[in-house]
Amino acid sequence: MRGTRWSARPQGACHRPCQKTCGKIRISGGGRCNFTNIGAGPQQFLSENPHFAKSALARYTSADFVALVDRYGIAWHEKTLGQLFCDGSAKEIIAMLLDECRVGGVEIWLETAVSDIQHDGGRYRLSLGGRPVTARSLVVATGGKSIPKMGATGFAYDVAARFGISVVEPRPGLVPFTLDPGLQADLEPLAGIGVPVEIACGAGRFREAMLFTHRGLSGPAVLQVSSYWSPGDEVTVRIRPDIMLSDALTTAKRDKGRQAAANALTDHLPKRLAHYFADRAAVDGHLADLSDKVLQRLASSIQDWRFKPAGTEGYRTAEVTLGGIDTLALSSRTMEASAVPGLYFIGECVDVTGWLGGYNFQWAWASGVAAGEAV
Ligand SMILES: Cc1cc2nc3c(=O)[nH]c(=O)nc-3n(C[C@H](O)[C@H](O)[C@H](O)COP(=O)(O)OP(=O)(O)OC[C@H]3O[C@@H](n4cnc5c(N)ncnc54)[C@H](O)[C@@H]3O)c2cc1C
Repeated sequence: MRGTRWSARPQGACHRPCQKTCGKIRISGGGRCNFTNIGAGPQQFLSENPHFAKSALARYTSADFVALVDRYGIAWHEKTLGQLFCDGSAKEIIAMLLDECRVGGVEIWLETAVSDIQHDGGRYRLSLGGRPVTARSLVVATGGKSIPKMGATGFAYDVAARFGISVVEPRPGLVPFTLDPGLQADLEPLAGIGVPVEIACGAGRFREAMLFTHRGLSGPAVLQVSSYWSPGDEVTVRIRPDIMLSDALTTAKRDKGRQAAANALTDHLPKRLAHYFADRAAVDGHLADLSDKVLQRLASSIQDWRFKPAGTEGYRTAEVTLGGIDTLALSSRTMEASAVPGLYFIGECVDVTGWLGGYNFQWAWASGVAAGEAV
């Protein structure tokens, strides 16, 4: 039934679209929606196939989305690292998308369970809230499992399994680390401290802020590198990557030899953090009385800090879900399942996951347009 497009939502949501659709957009970017990144390109995405996202991202760029935002007169600004945010509320982006749906003749059905999906070779038959519906194409855009309390489900993976399409094991991404009880107890007094770091794990290396929390480690740097972390991996942190701490301590020893080592560190680190690392390195006394070797050891304990996270906070607080619909099963041009004509997967449910910073919305926009132009 050409022209009518349905979008369904799970049971339990309310029925005022602008109130309850687009939950993740609403809370994103601290309520200002980091709606894209001007530097969005394939290198900022994780996937079993790093080339898959190139086609869609090249055909619908961040500039294309900005043009749409500008057409709606939504004011925006670049925050940092190419991240674009609304000056006002994320609700402006939601209203824009809903208006585009209205223009496109989209019907939005909320509180509607989707079930009994069948494909008889020509059309898809499914039940929407118990009502039989048929369609020539079926586009699955139900996201991943991150933040279940917002209605996230593994529905897309179930649909894929239903049609024999492989799924790359989903796992939480852009998620805070949890630590072994011993290390957590050690770091507990540092909760609330944020510090610039360079953090690395596997192929991931990021220079952003890290936050000590009562549950472990968070902040943009940690969220970024968590997508490259697997259980058992070691993480390396260089606190204050903008300075050579060993040189700074040597200079302090020369110029302020009567200063305590811990106090010398407070010139570069928050006081609690400085004292934590001085205690941990068992470095005490005046700089003048400490050998360069000891100061070097103190500096590298801060700028080459290595630890193994115990885990992550999981889907409860993960911003995205890594893995998902195997890109080997999809056309990179249309997002259509190669073996199941008319079935499309877009957005987060696909095994394409972006860095923090507007990349995941840009993938949702670009993959949505790729499928939208094909159905
Ligand atoms: C707290 C938070 C902040 C974020 N901030 C940003 C940001 O600033 N910039 C950025 O680029 N990315 C951000 N992200 C990531 C971004 O929200 C997602 O990558 C993006 O929303 C994915 O879009 P999607 O359409 O694929 O899936 P989703 O936005 O997750 O939408 C999927 C929809 O499908 C519905 N659904 C699920 N299961 C069913 C079912 N069984 N039946 C019917 N409907 C179903 C869900 O209710 C949901 O409405 C953030 C994520 C979180 C959690």
